[in-house]
Amino acid sequence: MEHVFPTYARFPFDLVKGEDVYLTDNHDKTYLDFTSGIGVCSFGYSNEIIQSNVQNQLGKIWHISNLYESQIQDDVAAMLCDDDQLAFFCNSGTEANEAAFKLARKYNGKTAVLAFNNGFHGRSYGSMSLTGNPDIQKGFGPLVPDVEFADYNDNEALELIDSHLAAVILEVIQGEGGVYVADQKWLTDIQQACHDNGVLLIIDEVQSGIGRTGKKFAFENFGLKPDIITLAKALGNGIPIGAMIGKKEMIGAFGPGSHGTTFGGNKLAMASAQGVLQQLTPEFLAEVQAKSAKVWQKLETEILPLLSVTEVTGMGLMIGIHLDTTLDVNEVITKLQDKGLLTLSAKHNTLRLLPPLIMDDDKLNEGLDIIKEILQ
Ligand SMILES: *Cc1c(COP(=O)(O)O)cnc(C)c1O
Repeated sequence: MEHVFPTYARFPFDLVKGEDVYLTDNHDKTYLDFTSGIGVCSFGYSNEIIQSNVQNQLGKIWHISNLYESQIQDDVAAMLCDDDQLAFFCNSGTEANEAAFKLARKYNGKTAVLAFNNGFHGRSYGSMSLTGNPDIQKGFGPLVPDVEFADYNDNEALELIDSHLAAVILEVIQGEGGVYVADQKWLTDIQQACHDNGVLLIIDEVQSGIGRTGKKFAFENFGLKPDIITLAKALGNGIPIGAMIGKKEMIGAFGPGSHGTTFGGNKLAMASAQGVLQQLTPEFLAEVQAKSAKVWQKLETEILPLLSVTEVTGMGLMIGIHLDTTLDVNEVITKLQDKGLLTLSAKHNTLRLLPPLIMDDDKLNEGLDIIKEILQ
């Protein structure tokens, strides 16, 4: 690729076709997909409901500004929100976190936000400033002021939460940061400290949400009730979309003219999200939980004991296999590709697995067998 800024280190093939949970490249090689893009195509590459929703919308109208009523936007918002919540639609996870940052500051009338080391919230100035990874921020300063950082799962964070903060932002499972799951008690204590001090709790569900852990939102596994939730990735199954959900009481801070985006809430993206959310039923989520249980059983009995594996972390179908220094995760990924399996990496030499949620037990098993073979 000679005409594109090399912001990505790309593998030397082009995935030109997708079918169900398989992808085919420009050399006609077919791969089993353990990536879903990066946690995006949870319903795979040929979901009929999403496809027909999008095609139907394509035939009517693709885009019109946000200057008019939009029934489909309100319908998708209703599918996402509880009665005490409202949604704002945008086009990416970065933008959802940007909206959350702005809403929190404006509503609370304070500027400081506490975020966490190894967290990832995006690459715009606002969301990058919330991202606890110096490699991502390097060379781009000065960043947005008044963002503080603490260690994830560390009780010192609790001492930093007082009334000077507008908000705390966190992922309940740090995705890019190495697929680390937060401790139940730590999360409950963070939420309590936020409540006690008038600090908003923002939970970034961009990667962990929309069924990835067998719940609509990963924070449900911990019984949390955030003030603001951000979403993107799997919400549109590949059509660009982001969403911020906030408590209705914040309505005054996001009135006409306060925030906006040309494409946010685009009807094509809404049609796609409607197809996703329509299928995210309690029965579907129960199936994800059941197949996850089998996957974790296999991870614990067959992958964790391998000499090169130090730890297996995650929840549901969001999985991190942590490799020791004898293996390089990128070399492992290349070897898995040779064997016809696509996987991802995360920070700290972690092999990250985000298979489509529709993948059946046999295929999940088959992928794990290939991983086992290569790690051996
Ligand atoms: C991917 C990701 C983002 C950024 O989303 P984009 O759509 O790439 O802007 C933000 N937060 C988390 C947790 C993510 O995984």
